[in-house]
Amino acid sequence: PQLVNQIAAGEVVERPASVVKELVENCFDAGANQVTIDIEQGGIRQIRIRDNGCGIVKDDLALALSRHATSKIASLDDLEQVGTMGFRGEALPSISSVARLTLISRTPEADCAWLVSADGTEKNFDPQPDPHPAGTTVDVRDLFYNTPARRKFLKAEKTEFAHIESLIQKLALARFDVGFVLNHNQREILHLKPATSLTEQEKRIAAICGSAFIELSVKIDYAASGLQLHGWVGLPTFSRGQQDQQFFYVNGRLIKDRLVAHAVKQAYQDVLYHGRHPVFVLYLTLDPALVDVNAHPTKLEVRFREGRTVHDFLFQALHRSLAAQRPGSEGG
Ligand code: ADP
Ligand code: MG
Repeated sequence: PQLVNQIAAGEVVERPASVVKELVENCFDAGANQVTIDIEQGGIRQIRIRDNGCGIVKDDLALALSRHATSKIASLDDLEQVGTMGFRGEALPSISSVARLTLISRTPEADCAWLVSADGTEKNFDPQPDPHPAGTTVDVRDLFYNTPARRKFLKAEKTEFAHIESLIQKLALARFDVGFVLNHNQREILHLKPATSLTEQEKRIAAICGSAFIELSVKIDYAASGLQLHGWVGLPTFSRGQQDQQFFYVNGRLIKDRLVAHAVKQAYQDVLYHGRHPVFVLYLTLDPALVDVNAHPTKLEVRFREGRTVHDFLFQALHRSLAAQRPGSEGG
């Protein structure tokens, strides 16, 4: 089983950011609205993630670290449903096969928290009491310490942390209802309170995309024939200097799609006569039946059942919104 776990880990644990992704998604699954992520040395030395979610009962702690013990799949139908979640009851066991993992959790009803741990082959599944508050902490140290070949492929601390920061930005723009704190080497990088009002959401977006972004962007809010687009597209005057940031969510899920990119670029160039890629944060909502999310479960790809319709909708939504709000135009 150790080898099986390590092989599974090869599929799911590519680098520190992939560990962070699995652990934060577990926090979401647990209904947490506060997630604190402490990273040391790009996540290679340590990844510690604490949430205020439902917690795990004492008797289930060992199960959570056991392969397939917690599979969410009860039927083939479920398999299609969870396809997007990547893997099923494999994250914690896979991670613990290539790192030193400690799991501490407390349900709201429990008198205290309980701790179990696993590293490589050593399992300490007999729960020990711990003063941790309600919720869960997963602590992952020394990633790939026992698989040197893989450790060799890790990049510099700075690069690995950049992947983590970018991941948290993407997740934070998908889940305004959750507060995030991200620390690297004891330094606070992001501190995002849960954002319910539009003003709070704009504050979060500004914290991620740059403080001038909201001011120097066009607000999009457009619906037609069952499709809905809302968000912000940066004006050519907004420049981050560095790399472009483009966040596009379909029914709450971040995607990268050529059809989408094309529609955005066309509308942008058409209205603003500008060739550069704009910074944008956009949310498309449509009937889930029109999106095939299982196309690439772990990748950022979807397949639209009616690509042409989606493309034309996006182009129209952006074209009209940009034209109406273009600086100097009569529109609002
Ligand atoms: P999966 O999420 O696919 O079930 P994981 O290996 O990611 O598999 O997690 C195993 C199980 O551990 C989960 O099903 C859940 O019951 C429990 N678990 C993991 N992380 C948390 C958390 N942060 N809060 C509550 N329960 C958790
Ligand atoms: Mg999981």
